[in-house]
Formats: sequence, structure tokens, C-alpha cells
Amino acid sequence: MEFLSARSVEEALQLLRAHGEAASILAGGSDLMIQLARGEVHPALLVHIEGIAELSGIAQHGNLTIGALTTHRQLATSARLACGYLALQESAASVGSRQTQEVGTLAGNICNASPAADTLAPLLVHAATVTLVSDARGERTLPLQDFLRGRRTTARQGDELLTRIELERVPARTADAYCKVGRRSAMEVAIAGLAARLTLSDDGQYIAEARIATCAVGPVPCRATSTEEFLKGRRPDERTLREAGALLAAGIAPIDDTRATARYRRSVMEGLLGRALRICTARVSITT
Ligand SMILES: Cc1cc2nc3c(=O)[nH]c(=O)nc-3n(C[C@H](O)[C@H](O)[C@H](O)COP(=O)(O)OP(=O)(O)OC[C@H]3O[C@@H](n4cnc5c(N)ncnc54)[C@H](O)[C@@H]3O)c2cc1C
Repeated sequence: MEFLSARSVEEALQLLRAHGEAASILAGGSDLMIQLARGEVHPALLVHIEGIAELSGIAQHGNLTIGALTTHRQLATSARLACGYLALQESAASVGSRQTQEVGTLAGNICNASPAADTLAPLLVHAATVTLVSDARGERTLPLQDFLRGRRTTARQGDELLTRIELERVPARTADAYCKVGRRSAMEVAIAGLAARLTLSDDGQYIAEARIATCAVGPVPCRATSTEEFLKGRRPDERTLREAGALLAAGIAPIDDTRATARYRRSVMEGLLGRALRICTARVSITT
């Protein structure tokens, strides 16, 4: 297996164009190195992109733009994310250990497309888009939900590099939260995870808009649109949260695996939704 370090986006794209499906992009390596060691992937070439400085960083000009190589540690400690994007911070801070967060990147978490990837639900509630670039066809941007095709499957073509992720600007009276159930507090992917983004009415009494996304309870993290519809226009009181939780639990299709049963996953979802919505409501009232 060959190993080449690209020093610029152009260089990485040329290598990907020349080698196509035979090449794998290596960012922090926290997923790929394990897959290589297990013999699950067999690339002829690793295109190492970790040193491309232009792919790292967080900026806001209207939408929030996050460079592909921004690490979980950078996300977890970013002052910019603390204003409106706390769910993404909370998810990044829950990825594995401090060491994993130092090397693991946002694009790596997205492109690995694990059903349990922590950052995906927060990105979905902020209607994130991903931008992919290829040497042959230039740039294209698509909603994250369309990029995620299935377990470990994305819409990425072999010669494409994911360069940035964009999140919508957060409206007034809006807050978000990410809640996760794992077997331990560190080094453990989610058994079930949920992100919520809530916008309250001008008087703070009603839910003007609710966005809910789940992870680890189906092959692809996704929005829970019927629960979102149910919540719209209602008061965020305990009865609403209970009924919304029951609706959410009935609408998911979790599986049994070595970490938890489908029954357990369904049973914790109701509690996760209630917890996330209570946190969102409290955060809106603190910030307005
Ligand atoms: C001990 C441990 C604990 C972990 N715990 C968690 C956890 O709790 N939650 C969680 O969600 N994850 C967890 N992970 C998984 C991992 O840390 C994350 O998925 C991480 O974000 C991957 O980023 P990376 O830069 O290391 O990706 P890499 O391993 O370098 O790459 C992952 C995949 O993405 C592709 N890729 C990377 N960057 C790009 C790009 N810019 N464009 C196109 N393709 C790209 C690679 O080709 C590869 O297929 C854990 C991993 C370990 C080792």
C-alpha cells in the first residue's frame, strides 16, 4: 500500500483523479486505520490530507461554515459554536476520548457514515449541507440527508473530497441540544442519540418549529418529521413531551446488536426526547 501526503486541495484532487476507487482519503485515521487493521478495506493508496491547513476552521458569514478537517476537539471548544450550535459541541465532546477528539475530524465522522456517528443528528437539525470537490467536475453541494445513503454508504464519488460543511444561521428564540445513551461515558459510540432544535413563539409559550434527528436507531441518522409536525404549535409541557416521545418511539426501527436490544433502544428514545426538549426550552428562556 502506497502512502502520499497532499499539501493542498489541488494536489489531493489530482491524486484522487489519477487513482480513483483504488485510493482512500486518510484524515485523522481514527476510523480508517482500524478498518485497515481489521482487513475491512484494501486501498492501494492512502491520500493523507491532515496537513491541508485550508480545510480546517470555523467561520460565520450568515451560514456557519466548518472546514472538513476541523477536529472534534476544535468543535467542542469553539466559542462560535457556543452561540446557537451547542448540540454540535455536545456531540463532538462525546466522541470517544480526548485523544480521539484531537485527531478525529468532522468530515471523517460524516464520510464514515456510521449509523451511530454522534455529529450527524446535530448537523441534520441545522439542515447541514456538504460540499464535495473533484478535479474533473468541480464543486457540488448537497443536503447532508441526501449525502447519507445507508450504513457506511454515502453519495461521494471516488475522486471527490469533502471540503466543507455549512449549517443554517439560527433564528431568534431558538436553542438546540444533543442527548446520548452509551454503555459508558467515554470511548463508546451511541446506543441511541437524539438532537433537537426548538424555536419558541414570540411570547415563549408555544413551539413555533421543532427539529428532531436520531442516530443509532436505524441504518441512517435522520429527521423525525412526524414528531416535528406533532410538536409544532403546542405548548412544551410535560404532556406534549410524553406524547411526542411515544410517537417518536413508535416511528423508529432500531435493531438488536451486541450493545443493546431494539426494545431497549426504543424505550430510551422517549426519555431522550423529553430531556433534549426540556434543555432546549430552558436554553431559549436563558438567551431571550
Ligand atoms: C476509540 C475510539 C472511539 C470512538 N468513539 C466514537 C464516538 O463515541 N462517536 C463517534 O461518532 N465516533 C467515534 N469514533 C469514530 C471516529 O473517531 C470518528 O468517526 C472520526 O470523526 C473520524 O474522523 P477521522 O478524521 O479520524 O476519519 P478517518 O478515519 O481518517 O476517515 C474516515 C472515513 O472518512 C473518509 N474521509 C475522511 N475525510 C474525508 C474528506 N475530507 N473527504 C472525503 N472522505 C473523507 C475516509 O476515507 C474514511 O473512509 C471512535 C473512534 C475510536 C478509535
